[in-house]
Amino acid sequence: MTGLYARERRSVSTMAHLRFYPLAAVGGSGAYLTGDDGRQLLDFAASWGAASLGHAHPAVREAVDRALSDQAGASYLSSANEPCVLLAEKLLSLVPERARGRVWFGHSGSDANETVARMVVAATGRPRILAFEGAYHGGTVGSMAVSGHPAQQGARAEGLTLVPYPNSYAAGSPQAAKEAVLAHLEKLFATEVPPEEVAAFLIEPIQSDGGMLVPPDGFFPAVEALCRRHGILLVSDEVKVGLGRSGRFNAFEHSGIEPDIVVFGKGLGGGLPISAVVGPEAIMNHAVAFSLQTVHGNPVCAAAALAVLQTIERDRLVANAERSGKALRAALDELAARHSLIGDVRGRGLALGVELVADGKPAARQTALAVYRAFQLGLVLYYVGVNSNVLEFTPPLTLTESEARQGVAILDQALADVAAGRVDEGLLADFAGW
Ligand SMILES: *Cc1c(COP(=O)(O)O)cnc(C)c1O
Repeated sequence: MTGLYARERRSVSTMAHLRFYPLAAVGGSGAYLTGDDGRQLLDFAASWGAASLGHAHPAVREAVDRALSDQAGASYLSSANEPCVLLAEKLLSLVPERARGRVWFGHSGSDANETVARMVVAATGRPRILAFEGAYHGGTVGSMAVSGHPAQQGARAEGLTLVPYPNSYAAGSPQAAKEAVLAHLEKLFATEVPPEEVAAFLIEPIQSDGGMLVPPDGFFPAVEALCRRHGILLVSDEVKVGLGRSGRFNAFEHSGIEPDIVVFGKGLGGGLPISAVVGPEAIMNHAVAFSLQTVHGNPVCAAAALAVLQTIERDRLVANAERSGKALRAALDELAARHSLIGDVRGRGLALGVELVADGKPAARQTALAVYRAFQLGLVLYYVGVNSNVLEFTPPLTLTESEARQGVAILDQALADVAAGRVDEGLLADFAGW
């Protein structure tokens, strides 16, 4: 353990920690982090996708510098500021027609989803919300209340009904996964969940923290049709996999659906805290002073977000996510052919997952050891999944094909070391993960 990590343990609370190994960063550039031991680590996590342009991107630095050098206040609560207006105008141009109303700004995916959960119930007068088992919509009381991930320690909302997310790998085929969930949903509507009482259905277009599950073809169009029939608002939580990561600008585009409300976060600020909800005016203007925090809509984070969106466009990073994602996927598929621990490789663009199994069961221990070993070898990688056995790949959208292959070469070695029993299990004592 390095000096900085040990000092942190004597001063910083662990309550927000979700640690997999003792990484202490002192800097970073592009897809690399600098450890306090001087090592350069290839970052395939990008802080859970938040560092969407990588670290220290010049466009973000320049935008933040400009916004701070003539600062138009610190908030949009009681005054308008130009970066927020420009960002809102930009975001409205990036969502489907039916969501093209107004934009709300927050700090995080959590406050955005919490706002959505309160807003849809208040605006429609319908008390119920649908979401998926395994869904991670945030870490505040209100966003945990509409989530379904087992790692979350908060209570679920009274009006919440969780529906299984179709898991093609576990079900044996996409078709089987899709049919089972749709049948379950139809049955719920016919029995305990009257659809006319449902305000909204919160979806993740790819269920990332739940295990990087890719929905079967035709699944979300069927969900969309049910929502339309019953006047249920369809909300796409694009917080982790949106903004180009999936190889399309919006991840829901892969399914050919048009949500009513779109939620952005994580990568929106390129590492700075900002989130956004975009939806119809009648919903988004439900009431004034309904959901606010003092420095929401601050011009510095808004300027960073605008620079992120402009850079994604200018540098064609959606196409890059598709291209580098293909290279990453091909290298991972090649690993899967050689490592018996790998049960499934899935995802879209630069939102990929590798599920590890042993004897047909989730290999949680090997997953924790693999990310630890990868860290020792120079690769930053975390894991997700309701069974803690899915390696998650959410690198910067700027990742090159060569960096993709370099990272997979490190993972190759890490998996070989784990399979051969060369990684000390004692290392995991302080790293519970999730
Ligand atoms: C991370 C995440 C959130 C919560 O975002 P925070 O920035 O942690 O508040 C919400 N939804 C999804 C899909 C996420 O991955």
